[in-house]
Amino acid sequence: MNSVSSDTSCGARFSVPDSLGFYGPYGGMFVPETLMTALFEFERVFKEAMADPAFLAEYHDLLKDYCGRPTPLYFAEHLTEHCGGAKIYLKREDLLHTGAHKITNALGQVLLAKRMGKTRVIAETGAGQHGVATAAAAARFGLKCVIYMGRVDMRRQALNVFRMNLFGAEVRPVDSGQQTLKDAVNEAMRDWVTNVRDTHYVVGSALGTHPFPLVVRTFQSVIGKELRGQILEKEGRLPDEMAACVGGGSNCIGFFHEFLDEPSVRLVGVEAGGRGIAEGQHAARFAGGRLGVFQGTLSYVLQNADGQINLTHSVSAGLDYASVGPEHAYYRDKGRIEYGYATDDEVIEALKVLCRVEGILPALESTHAIAYALKRAPQMAKDRILVVNVSGRGDKDVHTVMEALGVKPEDLVEKI
Ligand SMILES: *Cc1c(COP(=O)(O)O)cnc(C)c1O
Repeated sequence: MNSVSSDTSCGARFSVPDSLGFYGPYGGMFVPETLMTALFEFERVFKEAMADPAFLAEYHDLLKDYCGRPTPLYFAEHLTEHCGGAKIYLKREDLLHTGAHKITNALGQVLLAKRMGKTRVIAETGAGQHGVATAAAAARFGLKCVIYMGRVDMRRQALNVFRMNLFGAEVRPVDSGQQTLKDAVNEAMRDWVTNVRDTHYVVGSALGTHPFPLVVRTFQSVIGKELRGQILEKEGRLPDEMAACVGGGSNCIGFFHEFLDEPSVRLVGVEAGGRGIAEGQHAARFAGGRLGVFQGTLSYVLQNADGQINLTHSVSAGLDYASVGPEHAYYRDKGRIEYGYATDDEVIEALKVLCRVEGILPALESTHAIAYALKRAPQMAKDRILVVNVSGRGDKDVHTVMEALGVKPEDLVEKI
């Protein structure tokens, strides 16, 4: 029940992606020709591994004992009371090793890298969460690890840079462009093209060229599989509605995938509305984006009239990206997944509420889905069930929240 299975498609109603990685019109493989062999090899090894009981056994042992899976499903009694509507459950991905859902994918891909005989892994990171997860998994398996990170992000996330260093990873600063995530992705691609023989690129979300969206979704789909068993045990039925935040889209599609074929379950993805839907002020690709090819895949992209990538903004670094995974675009067209957004201000308010009533400090990314629940649950009857994915914990965000609330460390000291 709580396992990643060899089912890498999507059940009867939807069977995406096709053999070239297209989800309807979205997705594909928009990469330099030198990478095509490596990508097809990666896909072949991935599919073999998913059908190999020994691989799956090793992966699941590590998910359990190294990462802390299955993550609990928690009935948030006081949040439910606070909202006065649907029963709210929280899927506690925040309790995982390294602090978020990302380790589930990083570990799976590092195992695949080993299976392919690679000795080195690379990754890119914005806020640092995926870098930390990849560095941890690489340390666990003794692989060399290089993480690309924009210099601006390195300054903002110095603590995560040091965590990666402690795990033995080299963090390489990227000085091109805005010195943030998209520039780090470009640099990682350059490294991969050069070193593809001994190196695997651990992509951190359900994004980029095929087969990454498929691989990442398959690893993360363990979230929804666990949830199915847990909610049946606690409530004897499936949820009425589920919500998750959407950056590249991995925690969300991993949470939803098991339920795509369950029409009674409403699925809602929540993007970063930032300071509101105006050019450069947000990262809600479905609210303000247009079709385009960006970093390996065709999907919704925040771009200007000339096709230049817009600046993005979100209070949460992990949702601050100009494109979204192609599978999300596909299910949005089908009407199977609905998408909304939460603004920075709503997110800060929601974070305060969850801290106060439940004693849980969620990551700012995850708090987008909490903000949605605060609005939505009161509209639902008390016998309805709403499950929210808490993709990560908020310890990493404390300084951002302090800044947003105008609290200075010296003010705290004076009060004591
Ligand atoms: C990275 C991150 C996200 C966004 O990535 P997805 O691929 O969209 O899940 C969300 N929540 C947390 C806690 C993260 O670290």
